[in-house]
Amino acid sequence: MNRAQRLLLWAAATDAAFDLAEEAFTGPCIHCRRKLAIPLRDPGASTATVEHIVPRHHGGTDDLRNLAAACARCNSGKGVRLDHRRRDDPTLERVIAALRETRHARFRDAPEGLPLPPLPPVERGRKRRR
Ligand SMILES: [Zn+2]
Repeated sequence: MNRAQRLLLWAAATDAAFDLAEEAFTGPCIHCRRKLAIPLRDPGASTATVEHIVPRHHGGTDDLRNLAAACARCNSGKGVRLDHRRRDDPTLERVIAALRETRHARFRDAPEGLPLPPLPPVERGRKRRR
């Protein structure tokens, strides 16, 4: 299981909009609210991807409050449309603020006793390039 898949599981585990049933998290894409299913033991089989609310390109980290589950399509759409903009671009700032508000309102501690993989240590975004 790669780093992005582990972060995706932790993003869902710490999001109160996600339920755990039959070995998978199910809950809404942070953008379009379409229902996502993320198998605990095989998150790579999901159409969900881990979204960095503040893009890594702008120094956004893997801190859990900066992560959310999103459709691959929504995630790459935001990347193409917005993430390359200047950090003070009004549209980018508005989207980041809205996503952050949603994420923080739904933040919870991860349920105990789940077979979650270890949470990778936080890295600064600029060290890695997509
Ligand atoms: Zn979506």
